Amino acid sequence: MAVILNGKEVAKKTRENLKSKVEELKKKNIFPKLAVIMVGDDGASKIYVRNKSKACEELGIEYEEFLLDENTTQQQLLQLINELNERKDVHGILLQSPVPKHLDINEAFRTISPEKDVDGFNPVNVGKLVLGQDTFISCTPFGVMKLLEEYNIETEGKNAVVIGRSNIVGKPMLQCLLNKHATVTICHSKTENLKEITKKADILVAAIGKAKFVTKDMVKPGAVVIDVGINRNEQGKVCGDVDFNEVEGVASYITPVPGGVGPMTVAMLMENIVKAAK
Ligand code: NDP
Repeated sequence: MAVILNGKEVAKKTRENLKSKVEELKKKNIFPKLAVIMVGDDGASKIYVRNKSKACEELGIEYEEFLLDENTTQQQLLQLINELNERKDVHGILLQSPVPKHLDINEAFRTISPEKDVDGFNPVNVGKLVLGQDTFISCTPFGVMKLLEEYNIETEGKNAVVIGRSNIVGKPMLQCLLNKHATVTICHSKTENLKEITKKADILVAAIGKAKFVTKDMVKPGAVVIDVGINRNEQGKVCGDVDFNEVEGVASYITPVPGGVGPMTVAMLMENIVKAAK
């Protein structure tokens, strides 16, 4: 049976460490603050945003929310971002995705000042990650790396396979693993012979968005399996991209859903806010 990578525990420890850093900053009259922009009324986004605000509250990080109407124009959105860029009391700016289809989210991410881009989506920060420079790393891949580190899981020289090539998870995940000297393959919906590739993975990361996509026959015995997916099964219960019950029997380490990568994502956002405030 695989060892469970307990993201909830590691996230708690990470937050506790950050608490003292926030207190130190406050002694220097720096009051870390996150501004969150949400456009429209997406149900899942509301839950994510609530989790982020709760984490800020626990750490003593100030939090301001901007709930924009779903008919907000691109110009109004960019104007708000520019105002927040200018504000000295705001250290981190987060634009919750998705946004309504008429808005250009990439332009919005580009407009967030790289110094306040705690989600790591501004192309400047993405570029720095590619170049292996210090930057804000997208919170989910950053959280996966922290989890691997906490469990002393070696990445150097290992075969890592990432399924999914999104800008927010798959691509930065590839870079993070590469920067830590793994040999990385990235797969997507056009990949041929997926199973043959995943079977060679020492570290397999699933970021697809399809419940129970990764089955036992796709996993090398002893592999480390990281499940980024957040889906709902037929009963409406939250589940990952990995068929946990099956894969737990072949993997050496595995993340549960919920309680694996999800809490780490929020913890790393807090880490990025503290870094921005510093
Ligand atoms: P996207 O939909 O943006 O990307 C999904 C990726 O999976 C795409 O690259 C797609 O390929 C690939 N894919 C789809 N079908 C297949 C297939 N049959 N075979 C191989 N690859 C396939 O999703 P995200 O990256 O935003 O999110 C992925 C999952 O992670 C979701 O469940 C999301 O909810 C979850 N998530 C969890 C977070 C957390 O904190 N735990 C944070 C962010 C996301 P192609 O590019 O060719 O279309």
